Amino acid sequence: MRTLFKNATIVTMNAEREVIKGNLLVDGSKIAAIGDVEDPAAQVIELNGDVLIPGLIQTHIHLCQTLFRGQADDLELLDWLKLKIWPLEGGHDPESLYDSALLGIGELFLGGTTAIVDMETVHHTEHAFQAILDSGMRAISGKCMMDAPDDEIPQSLHESTDASLRESVDLFEKYHGQGNGRLEVAFTPRFVISCTDPLLQEVARLAQEKKAFVHTHASENRGEIEVVERTRNQRNIVFLEKMGLTGPNLILAHCIWLDDREKDILVQSQTRVAHCPSSNLKLASGIAPIPELMSLGAQVSLGADGAPCNNNLDAFREMRHAALIQKPLHGPTAMPAQKVFELATLGGARAIGHEHDLGSLEVGKKADLAVVSLDGLHTWPHEQVDIYSQLVYQAQSSDVRLTMVDGKIVMQDRKLNTIDAPRLKQSSTRSLKRVLQRVGLD
Ligand SMILES: [Zn+2]
Repeated sequence: MRTLFKNATIVTMNAEREVIKGNLLVDGSKIAAIGDVEDPAAQVIELNGDVLIPGLIQTHIHLCQTLFRGQADDLELLDWLKLKIWPLEGGHDPESLYDSALLGIGELFLGGTTAIVDMETVHHTEHAFQAILDSGMRAISGKCMMDAPDDEIPQSLHESTDASLRESVDLFEKYHGQGNGRLEVAFTPRFVISCTDPLLQEVARLAQEKKAFVHTHASENRGEIEVVERTRNQRNIVFLEKMGLTGPNLILAHCIWLDDREKDILVQSQTRVAHCPSSNLKLASGIAPIPELMSLGAQVSLGADGAPCNNNLDAFREMRHAALIQKPLHGPTAMPAQKVFELATLGGARAIGHEHDLGSLEVGKKADLAVVSLDGLHTWPHEQVDIYSQLVYQAQSSDVRLTMVDGKIVMQDRKLNTIDAPRLKQSSTRSLKRVLQRVGLD
């Protein structure tokens, strides 16, 4: 199966950052040619100058929470978790989790996101994996691990250290590499304060043994780091290093409240920092020191986090926020548009160890891409306007015309090909009612 995109403006994100007017040929799951290429046998998609971009990569998402969009507004992190999100996650059943994941994936496809790093809830993870496999999304995902004895964790989420590790390993053995390699399974402890030391140490060992990613949260909230300092007698990132977790296979969401030593550990270890500006603003968590971390050489990428703390999974808003929130602190030239666009493409690819086959439009790389129309009044006029400025400061997710993952078109002309959206809306409404009733939040 070959697809020829004709008359595109191709934002390649190659080493020279070339923007090419021309055609792009997809053969199977890969980009076969870029430029003057023609192919009479291919399916032709005429773009009339629309912009082809690498598929956007979001490195911190919770598909299991999409169902709870709007259920937990205007709370800070620890209350948000204890009063709403933990009880709601604990109320999931297999069908509600499947619906939640599919709802998130549909929204992501409609906004040009083609790959995610995802944290599921404690139970039923295989149903979220099934939604990833059925829909065509590319994901690194894992079951949330929460083995700490904590009265504030609902019984529905509590698990023993052994059970948590066993289930994580079972999921890895069964699902890692499925969907033509689109699904990779990670170890995903929620954060230090909901995990025991033996669990964190064993996760570090298992991830090395299985060459897997570890995905967790760190230093998002001042209350969180106070608990770590009280119970572990050290700073959060220093503690993660002591557990053997820091390194290029650790994806750490947030990283807001860091001292100089912690910044140094993140940079030296090449730990992946997933920056979530919208979530950090809405939960009143703070502003991550991203310009400083980047100037020190940190590996940074972007993510929307969960629907109840954002309340969208929109990479375009995330890019815009990533640029704007730093400017009052560091001046108008902090986080320029092109740099932010790099975080959402190449930065994401590097974070997930796929810089060789994702993150840019180059021959031989995987055909994960999106078509953005800059024809709207809100993106007009074009004369002498920088393409990255258009994409980061002006474009909206609704400007995405087509999304392709692994050579397959998953969204075209605002219609999802692998998800029945009207049916999903009905079934997710039923699922939410069921969960709210189960946990007494109705
Ligand atoms: Zn999160």
